[in-house]
Amino acid sequence: MGKTRQYNIEGLLLEIPVCYDELVGKEIEIFPDFIENPVYTPEGHPVLFTGEDACAYGQAPDGMPCIDCGSCRFYRQTPDTLIGVCGHEQKQRNFDTNEMKPYKGGTQG
Ligand code: SF4
Repeated sequence: MGKTRQYNIEGLLLEIPVCYDELVGKEIEIFPDFIENPVYTPEGHPVLFTGEDACAYGQAPDGMPCIDCGSCRFYRQTPDTLIGVCGHEQKQRNFDTNEMKPYKGGTQG
């Protein structure tokens, strides 16, 4: 088992593998694909990579373009890493039904 860093993200314990990058000259974190394999805080909020492409609900503060989660006003950045939590209510998972909240205006089914 390689080296890892542990984070407590709003009550969710995450272990992120790290490896030494010779080009950069320091250890870098190897993030899982949170879109492929979603991970949620105990409150049901998804954990996402800061550079993840913005979704349809993304809104940047000050009218700036929202290009990724890191530039979204709903994103709560975890310090000292490139992961954080999406606080948008439409992205919150309902653990009782194990479903996402319905998308506004969406016609799922
Ligand atoms: S933080 Fe949430 S609402 Fe904002 S762009 Fe990312 S997934 Fe969408």
